[in-house]
Amino acid sequence: MRKIGHLINGEQVLQGELLDVFNPSTGQVTSRVCMGDEALVAQAVAAAKAAFSAWRDTPPAKRARVMFRFKQLLEERADDICALISEEHGKTLEDARGELLRGIENVEYACGVPELLKGDYTRNVGPNIDAWSDFQPLGVVAGITPFNFPAMVPLWMYPMAIACGNCFILKPSEKDPSSSLLVAALLKEAGLPDGVMGVVHGGKAAVDALLNHKQVKGISFVGSTPIAEYIYARGTANGKRVQALGGAKNHAVFMPDADLDNAVNALMGAAYGSCGERCMAISVAVCVGDAVADALIAKLEPEIHALKIGPGTQRGLDMGPVISREQLTRIEGYIQAGVEQGAELTVDGRGLQVPGHEQGYFLGGCLFDRVTPEMSIYREEIFGPVLCVVRVASLEAAIELINAHEYGNGTCIFTRDGEAARLFGDEIEVGMVGINVPLPVPVSYHSFGGWKRSLFGDLSAYGPDSVRFYTRRKTITQKWPERASHEASQFAFPSL
Ligand code: NAD
Repeated sequence: MRKIGHLINGEQVLQGELLDVFNPSTGQVTSRVCMGDEALVAQAVAAAKAAFSAWRDTPPAKRARVMFRFKQLLEERADDICALISEEHGKTLEDARGELLRGIENVEYACGVPELLKGDYTRNVGPNIDAWSDFQPLGVVAGITPFNFPAMVPLWMYPMAIACGNCFILKPSEKDPSSSLLVAALLKEAGLPDGVMGVVHGGKAAVDALLNHKQVKGISFVGSTPIAEYIYARGTANGKRVQALGGAKNHAVFMPDADLDNAVNALMGAAYGSCGERCMAISVAVCVGDAVADALIAKLEPEIHALKIGPGTQRGLDMGPVISREQLTRIEGYIQAGVEQGAELTVDGRGLQVPGHEQGYFLGGCLFDRVTPEMSIYREEIFGPVLCVVRVASLEAAIELINAHEYGNGTCIFTRDGEAARLFGDEIEVGMVGINVPLPVPVSYHSFGGWKRSLFGDLSAYGPDSVRFYTRRKTITQKWPERASHEASQFAFPSL
């Protein structure tokens, strides 16, 4: 059985207890991943620390050249990477390709690091005095990532962290670690010095070791809200800079004037793509008026029944399996709770059998109507192919509903009314907003981040915020007095 090792100092390290990695389409174990502990994390941090000063002093343009080569390698190896994503995560190959391309966008943005790191300079802030601000790397920083985007989410983090002059340790999800490892390993081929990038696999023990290690100066986390909150509290208590992105419950609002055919097509992909296992997936459709709700459901039902579901590695499908047997059971538990709490299950995807893949973790698309805010299927993140329809009387009621939810990652509105769209954009308490765009995931040169309990910390992921997150400002004020001058002591606070 193949073993998945850590990456320390440019070498594979096969150390630690082994954990099974499954193919969710077959339910079979495909490999075993080595689980890191405190000693292994210490080894990875020591290697990163040793590489730091030379890397920090490498000119930004040279650091950018590594990113240019890395982008090229990612494109050349795309088929291998997507095959691994699909095999261990279960998402379709086409979806894996989309994920990788969105990840590569972040490498492209990091290629511009010489421009992004240019500091601010002011000549003559006082007589013969100049001042400038520099953006200097933090040192060793770490990233802890979720299973649902094993290539893209790590690429939100380390291309920019490394381009800014930091050394990075990635702790990818233990559920689908192979593609995260392959992508990171390509950096060596791209010319990155050993030690600058490390990968430590594992679970809580490895994460806690990173949170406790004094030499780890910053932590980027993406995952579920309870863990994000824990990472933020523990990391900041230990004096680290932390950004921790959490879970979501994303609402799409359908106004009476929405172009419903296009909106339904958009909603199908946003709700059921990747089996709903996206932090930006739409899991609640808020219909303004019963007529909109009835029409939307009438159009959705046949589309959901027609979803093509099977092993992700087969081409031309809409949906693969969910990540694990536990996740399948958990989602089915939510569906049962929804029924018991009084929602109308108009499409029930439970019990789906894919011929030849009877042990796979498959679930058909599910649709609930007449969902109300106190139901657990509304309040909690299901992270599966389950869409809830909530009926409201007005746009104001839709906004109030969304603003009252604990999560605030993404949302969107479908309308032809510019005034309604503008009001929505102004009033909604959510970090990423789409106007007739179902998945408003910002491009790499903007930043990604939710509000409320979808993000703990002050700076969002990737884009301009990531340059600020992975550097700290140093402001230098410099004076070169004229040789003949004599300056008296000044006891009053210096001012012009
Ligand atoms: P998760 O929180 O279970 O795991 C995320 C990471 O934390 C993994 O690397 C895991 O090993 C580690 N971890 C798990 N339990 C831990 C513990 N007790 N202590 C320390 N570390 C622990 O999340 P997941 O199931 O892998 O991913 C799905 C979640 O991620 C969803 O909630 C989804 O919304 C969220 N997500 C959010 C974003 C975003 O940008 N906001 C993006 C993708 C996914």
